[in-house]
Amino acid sequence: MIYADNAATTRLSPGALAAMTPYLTQTYGNPSSLYSFAGEAKAALEEARETVARCLNARAEEVFFTSGGTESDNWALRGVAEALGKRGRHILLSAIEHHAVLHTGQWLKKQGFEVELLPVDDQGTVAPETLKKALRPDTILVSVMLANNEIGTIQPIEELAAIAHEGGAIFHTDAVQAVGHIPVDVQALGVDLLSLSGHKFHGPRGVGALYVKKGTPLLPLIHGGGQEHGRRSGTENVAGAVGLAAALRERQDALAADGPRLAALRDRLVQRVLRLPYARLTGHPTRRLPGLASFVFEAIEGESILLQLDARGICASSGSACSSTSLEPSHVLLAIGLPHPVAHGSVRLSFGEAVTEGEVDQVADSLTQVVHDLRAMSPVWDAAAGRPIW
Ligand SMILES: *Cc1c(COP(=O)(O)O)cnc(C)c1O
Repeated sequence: MIYADNAATTRLSPGALAAMTPYLTQTYGNPSSLYSFAGEAKAALEEARETVARCLNARAEEVFFTSGGTESDNWALRGVAEALGKRGRHILLSAIEHHAVLHTGQWLKKQGFEVELLPVDDQGTVAPETLKKALRPDTILVSVMLANNEIGTIQPIEELAAIAHEGGAIFHTDAVQAVGHIPVDVQALGVDLLSLSGHKFHGPRGVGALYVKKGTPLLPLIHGGGQEHGRRSGTENVAGAVGLAAALRERQDALAADGPRLAALRDRLVQRVLRLPYARLTGHPTRRLPGLASFVFEAIEGESILLQLDARGICASSGSACSSTSLEPSHVLLAIGLPHPVAHGSVRLSFGEAVTEGEVDQVADSLTQVVHDLRAMSPVWDAAAGRPIW
């Protein structure tokens, strides 16, 4: 099997598993308890926090553990909206955000906020000019993801955050696809809030974090026992936090070598696949995640491609995992201006750091063959002319 769906989730690293196991089996004390046995768990939690902070160039007291990327995104948006709702009610989100952001935006709209979507260009980039024009005196929050989960485009976050701040707005970025895959420095980016999730970088599922720059107005989303300095209640997931931190440190240490290697393999795949006619790469050609290649193929369905790839032992994805059961084409592909019928033929391949050149070539060959075969059967492909009937 070739697993090429690392943007959906990743394999837990053996190092992360080893680091977290003692906190599931032996050192199981509740970090809030007062005996020294619990103190060991508390110390491990705080060490994990420090590791995450170091990897992000943040301070430990700015890192809050959550149940994952979805919660971090919900908290960032709702927390700021509720904290600043009296000052303004205008919120800007990019049109290609993950549903964890977009659906939270829809919920806020129902609560009386004015939520506006920032359009992207045909490569999936939010132009700084676009944000500049959309900002208003009552804009309280701007949320633009660091790297897109479907097309891999990396946004000019530094510029966007600076523009948001000039306009007096708080800036959040969903960095779930970026952390562990490209260098992420919260100081250099200049963001106020940043979401990350363990299982997208070989950590465990069900644990994530929100970076909250000191002084950022943010009300809690989850109320209860007052853990995480009263900002995120619930008995801490010590093993999860330890596993997340161990995985992040591993990725961070390997980034300098893995990034360029993965990018070269990605480019090799793209070059081979684009020998097919009526095939395009989606997203930015160079400002994109190193391990992610996404395509559209005219005159065939992405779902059919996935089934055929699966039959050949290749795990891939079409659009986002969340929308793979719906018939609507992905909002991301529509936002970059692809017509409906073209957007239906999308495939995303996202490689892990362990992928080999041989595997990438096998994926390129299989994908090429599958597209050929499906087009031969497609009612909207003119085989004689070698082009779609439209
Ligand atoms: C996976 C993902 C999320 C959700 O993270 P979970 O930890 O699965 O809840 C949010 N945003 C992006 C961009 C993602 O890729």
